[in-house]
Amino acid sequence: MKAPAKSSGSSSPAVSTPAPSAVADPGPKPGEREGLDLFALLAEHEHEQVSVYFDPSTGYRGIIAIHSTVLGPALGGTRFWNYQSDRDALIDALRLARGMTYKAAVAGLNLGGGKSVIIGDNRTTRREALFRAHGRHVESLKGRYITAEDVGTGTADMEYIKAETNHVTGLIGRSGDPSPVTAYGVYRGIKACAHYRSGSDSLAGKSVALQGCGSVGYHLARLLVAEGADITCTDIDPQRVKRVVEECGAKAVAPDAIYDVRAGIFAPCALGAVINDATVARLQVEIVAGAANNQLAEDRHGDLLERRGITYAPDYVINGGGLINVNAELHGWAPERARSKAGEIYDTLLRVFEIAREEGIPSYRAADRLAEQRIAAIAKVRRNFV
Ligand code: NAD
Repeated sequence: MKAPAKSSGSSSPAVSTPAPSAVADPGPKPGEREGLDLFALLAEHEHEQVSVYFDPSTGYRGIIAIHSTVLGPALGGTRFWNYQSDRDALIDALRLARGMTYKAAVAGLNLGGGKSVIIGDNRTTRREALFRAHGRHVESLKGRYITAEDVGTGTADMEYIKAETNHVTGLIGRSGDPSPVTAYGVYRGIKACAHYRSGSDSLAGKSVALQGCGSVGYHLARLLVAEGADITCTDIDPQRVKRVVEECGAKAVAPDAIYDVRAGIFAPCALGAVINDATVARLQVEIVAGAANNQLAEDRHGDLLERRGITYAPDYVINGGGLINVNAELHGWAPERARSKAGEIYDTLLRVFEIAREEGIPSYRAADRLAEQRIAAIAKVRRNFV
């Protein structure tokens, strides 16, 4: 997407203005500064805005990255992590915010992409003041950014944020566990892949190698088996494997053996980067379609799947149910409406495969193309009607 990097708002009260010198010094040229080359990073990641805030009283150090608000307010969780450097934190926020723009766009939601990071040890027990500082940071953006849970944060933290701003979701007692909706979207996505491959979306008698029997994997297994699919599953947690074996009649294999299972579908529902140099050649499946984020270790692994004739459901398209669930909370949707919206992942994936075929590109690139088309179309409407 060629959205211009419009501005960078740094709201850090810790930044002081240097006294003017007699001879105006133009300063280093872009790219010549030591360390953090903020504007080059913004341009590279094509962001609208980055806000940086430091609160000395709590030690809060937070970055909010807003990639795009073309489709609506930028939504994305707050990650609380002990980054090696401020640069790492910023790059993570930029990368994740951009991913949210694309995910919301293909899910057909009226949301943009953003993300925030808090730098520090997420095991801290002194959370109230810290998250209220974050809440004030979010509030300062006046609704351009809406936050939610992410790695290192939980619903109780969202309640602290709520004390300072209304621009927060994932609150206690609201939309709840997104996994059933995510699993339903993945199930519908798998059916779309089957339809694309064979003209029939029935999963009866189809074999599925399921990696990860956690929240999403478990719900997915139940949907698959209800339609008559045969499941081979794995997890590093034996209790979770046991539940899927007992309730869904699945076969279990050791974690590393899942890549060698001969099956119609490989459904990664555990970790990212599982399609990599070590695994891609081992897969004996027609379809890779699962919930895990960032399944391709690198883009080229998507090309390798394509070359092997394996249909890949781009992760951020097929796992959009979680975001749809958050959107449902924001807009007060009934659970059936969220489920039905997640069901539309079926048609979205077919459109992705169509673009891939028309343009002769792999599916992961076609998904980006679909997101960019929607964003560009809405940006045009906004320009034309003042
Ligand atoms: P979860 O933590 O409940 O389940 C993940 C499971 O993977 C756990 O049971 C864990 O033991 C297992 N696991 C970890 N390493 C493994 C390995 N090497 N081999 C086999 N199993 C392993 O998480 P979840 O909520 O079910 O999410 C699964 C994936 O889907 C994650 O990548 C998550 O980011 C993504 N996702 C989840 C949602 C959601 O709504 N929960 C939405 C979008 C994307």
